[in-house]
Amino acid sequence: MYEPDCIFCKIAAGEIPCGKIYEDDDILAFMDINPISDGHILVIPKTHSARVHESNPDVLAKLAAKLPLLASAVIKGLGCSGYNILCNNGAAAGQEVDHVHFHIIPRNPADGVFT
Ligand code: 5GP
Ligand code: ZN
Repeated sequence: MYEPDCIFCKIAAGEIPCGKIYEDDDILAFMDINPISDGHILVIPKTHSARVHESNPDVLAKLAAKLPLLASAVIKGLGCSGYNILCNNGAAAGQEVDHVHFHIIPRNPADGVFT
């Protein structure tokens, strides 16, 4: 499903450029435009749903199946020692783009966040 007012639907359709790092029939991974750390990426299903609980389980399963590959690419590409995988659902949880997306955020001790 394509939602005309959704920026991530436009990115998935190739109407807006992105720093694409992986694509298949079901999902797309690309660089976050405002990264929390170097290498911060977003992983989205190509079909629109706003929240996880509204999503097609089969599509989310396909996305989840690619997380090991994508996390490995982040680790190998950046040499980071850790990473967060984060999915905000609803404005109260900090979701700003209403198309389901998973952040993969590389972390290093120098971040100082968890020390
Ligand atoms: P949320 O707060 O909804 O979980 O995260 C939305 C993320 O999407 C933010 O990290 C923001 O930087 C990113 N973002 C918003 N608009 C765009 C865009 O047009 N292109 C890309 N690549 N990232 C975007
Ligand atoms: Zn969308």
